[in-house]
Amino acid sequence: MSPIATLDGCAAELARSDRPAAETQRPVLRERGQREVFCGLTGIIWLHRKMQDAFFLVVGSRTCAHLLQSAAGVMIFAEPRFATAIMEERDLAGMVDAQDELDRVVNRLLERRPDIRTLFLVGSCPSEVIKLDLAKAAQRLGAVHMPRVRILNYSGSGIETTFTQGEDACLAALVPVMPTLSADAPKELLIVGSLPDIVEDQFLRLFGELGIDRVGVLPARNARDLPSVGANTRYLLAQPFLGETAMALEGRGARRIDAMFPFGAEGTSDWLRAAAREFGIDAAHVEAVLAAPRARAHRALANLRPQLEGKRITFLPDSQLEVPLARFLQDELGMELIEVGTPYLHRAHLARELDRIGPQVRLSEGQHVERQLDRVRTDRPDITVCGLGLANPLENEGLTTKWAIELVFSPIHGFDQAADLAELFARPLRRRDMLEI
Ligand code: SF4
Repeated sequence: MSPIATLDGCAAELARSDRPAAETQRPVLRERGQREVFCGLTGIIWLHRKMQDAFFLVVGSRTCAHLLQSAAGVMIFAEPRFATAIMEERDLAGMVDAQDELDRVVNRLLERRPDIRTLFLVGSCPSEVIKLDLAKAAQRLGAVHMPRVRILNYSGSGIETTFTQGEDACLAALVPVMPTLSADAPKELLIVGSLPDIVEDQFLRLFGELGIDRVGVLPARNARDLPSVGANTRYLLAQPFLGETAMALEGRGARRIDAMFPFGAEGTSDWLRAAAREFGIDAAHVEAVLAAPRARAHRALANLRPQLEGKRITFLPDSQLEVPLARFLQDELGMELIEVGTPYLHRAHLARELDRIGPQVRLSEGQHVERQLDRVRTDRPDITVCGLGLANPLENEGLTTKWAIELVFSPIHGFDQAADLAELFARPLRRRDMLEI
């Protein structure tokens, strides 16, 4: 294993593993074939900005290092908080003890970087193929470096994860080490999902105005602020791709607050109202708090509506944000949904969103890229939301595209970002109109 490369990757093009889907009344086109999405390592790009005293050490190949480097190209001036321990041929061939090599790399890293409080060992395709046991490594190294550094592990491998599932796996790894909320403690709210600091601060301010003061956030900005969890925890998912994390939280007694996701004026209102109801806040007070920011969001969206209303849109499966974003574009901007594809449809978490999507909309889960592209060619939507690898070929065929990954990197949650979110879809359409003139 060579010391450390701070650079990076590849878009996985892998056979999708079969995942059981829950029963549903609504017909869903389920596809199992080749898929074209980034792997879970991509999540490191936004997670390392969020968790300011954490470090992500990918145990992977040069390809993994290249993925991180290209995805994080704009971060070259930042203090690196992620790196790749590159597995060489001799590691892969079992000619050296990869665990010993990993110990050496980690010990050297922690010696050089006393600022690191949480170290994530992140698995990749190569580490998975040679069955390098990173859980065992995290335990062994943790025994040496605790309490100064907490060492955890998760997999970002493209065999197991699509790009947002990396965050799910990372947060699920944090749940077992969250402190326990005592059984007689008052009820606490937990916001789950990585949000840009500015958006998180807006939400915390709104919860404060609503009268909910005991609010924790997962992931916390610093390891020492890791929130508590227990039977009196009520959690709100801020992202729709956190199924594994939700299960881990439920395992510790927490209960989910059912709500739409906080995209657009209506999704955000529903999300905040659901929390307020759970905490017994007076409905009139809730409406008074929401009135001004909600009206502001509606006004900002009204400016963009003429550019989007009636436009036909298809989502290819990529980020797992597809269903709530489709609901927002349909309900608040009048767009027509043609197909809404998602890598994995969590029916319970998305139930309130799915209720609003009409039966004429084609819902698909999983991917068979060739068949999906054939449907896009037949439908010819005004805009197709897809991964980077598919955008260029589709543009070449005269179709307008939007990169799904941009939606994950941009602040799009909440009232004040509603118009920015709409703008992300309006911009490619404006560009197309300009090119057509
Ligand atoms: S984890 Fe797998 S899919 Fe991701 S960059 Fe490494 S080799 Fe490629």
